[in-house]
Amino acid sequence: MTSVRALRMVEVETPPAFSEATPPELFERLRLVPVPVLFQRPPQGRGASRWIGVCPHARYTEIGEVVLDARLVETALWEPRADLIQAVYLHEVAHRLMPEGYGHGAAFGAMSLVLHLRAGKTNDFLMWHRITVYDFCDEGENVPRAFAWAWKISLELAPTERTAEECAALIVAEHTKWCTWLAGEEERQQARHEAARATTQAIEDRIKRLKESRWLWALGSLILGAGGAIRLLL
Ligand SMILES: [Zn+2]
Repeated sequence: MTSVRALRMVEVETPPAFSEATPPELFERLRLVPVPVLFQRPPQGRGASRWIGVCPHARYTEIGEVVLDARLVETALWEPRADLIQAVYLHEVAHRLMPEGYGHGAAFGAMSLVLHLRAGKTNDFLMWHRITVYDFCDEGENVPRAFAWAWKISLELAPTERTAEECAALIVAEHTKWCTWLAGEEERQQARHEAARATTQAIEDRIKRLKESRWLWALGSLILGAGGAIRLLL
């Protein structure tokens, strides 16, 4: 008789490569309570989704952990790289800090930027250089503007004493305001067009009036001139 195989998550010793990539000083700079990590092997084979990090919904986790590809911290084809391990971890932590439904948009990008800016340098890499278009990919054509917004707010927040959680709450609030502002953009553009059209019309009307008065003056001068000429002849 076969029995059902049972699995459970157990706490293991932190892999040395991960400890090296995430020293206690890093969390001081991030102003973040360390988020636990579950190391897993991604599914292999055809059609398997490829990932090196995942942030499952918190309600499906045991203690709010994020998931990293176990191969990141193992010596296989190459030695584990602290900057890569840290970048994947920070990306997943940024997801954990944002409320559900934020995906890879401007708000998530701003949170990720705050963490990467605070992380500073690892292996001579400025960690924020690890941010890519992928972090903003849900924005579609709006990526340049989303990045500009996220860059501005992250530069403001990164040097502050606010905790990472407080930064997340502020980003969410500012993002809501920004989205409202963006939603009204079409109306503002329409109003600008109408104002420009009204100004053009006013200028045209003025030119028309000036032209008409010029003809009147010319006519008046002609009459006066003719009157003078007649008087001379007489
Ligand atoms: Zn992601």
